[in-house]
Amino acid sequence: MKIGLIDVDGHRNKKTGIAFPNIALMKVSNYYKQLGHEVEHANFGHYDKLYISKLFNFTPEIDLNVGFISANEINKGGTGYDIKKRLPLDIEVCDPDYSVYHDCDFSVQFFSRGCIRNCSFCVVREKEGFIMPQKPMNLNPNGKHIEILDNNFFANPEWKSAIDYLLDKKQPVNLHGVDVRIMNEEQAYWLNKLKHLKQIHIAWDFPKIDLVPQITEMTKHVKPYKVMCYVLIGFNSTPEQDLYRVEKLRELKIDPFVMPYNKSDPYQKRFARWVNHKAIFKTVKWSEYRQGSFSSVCP
Ligand code: SF4
Repeated sequence: MKIGLIDVDGHRNKKTGIAFPNIALMKVSNYYKQLGHEVEHANFGHYDKLYISKLFNFTPEIDLNVGFISANEINKGGTGYDIKKRLPLDIEVCDPDYSVYHDCDFSVQFFSRGCIRNCSFCVVREKEGFIMPQKPMNLNPNGKHIEILDNNFFANPEWKSAIDYLLDKKQPVNLHGVDVRIMNEEQAYWLNKLKHLKQIHIAWDFPKIDLVPQITEMTKHVKPYKVMCYVLIGFNSTPEQDLYRVEKLRELKIDPFVMPYNKSDPYQKRFARWVNHKAIFKTVKWSEYRQGSFSSVCP
């Protein structure tokens, strides 16, 4: 059989040009190749089966007619189509086939799925349920670092085995989900033992929760310049609370990165631009930038 894969919202890194691999499609590829079938990224022609993945519901739907693609059977999956849909178990248990993304020079890994929290703006709990440890998948044979996609790495009851695994691999890591609210001293110590590819990302989404004690504790082990903190604005927060959080982070010498909940709201857009443009954030006060007199500095 000829199997076609379509990664609807697949994107390439702006700097490296390398595509971020889609795990579900790599598992599909491995499954069918093991059965002796031909698998490729679908771009033209007729296929016996098409697997189409869409992770975000805001990504526009693909028009198969434009690419002159047709198939006897079309399977669509991913959060962008159906939050509850799962791969069939015999595909889910397969390791990813990295040859689908031949230029990919890193691995993607999960040690857990789900989360202990149920934040109202997030679909993880609805999609994946309460946190569950997960057996790691095989790594990319050409991988030079590991992207760790856990939603909440340290909420995993088996987080220490994950750290041992990563220390054993000796590759730099990029941790996507570090929940500073639950971080204890032992976790901060081991977090610092990993070789980090870039800044460690934490989040301060809820202004009513004071994260200063936890962040202060964390920075006893992890140097503040190694940490970046996402600050969600426009979702249950006032402009005063937004300013308080970014100024507190500045005091703690941690880089804030503002995530506007509504990207078309003029205040949220402007505040995000002020904070996220580091040269402006370092030199111009919000009280001045808010007035608009510095708008020409920032496109
Ligand atoms: S902690 Fe993060 S992953 Fe977990 S529910 Fe909240 S936003 Fe989602």
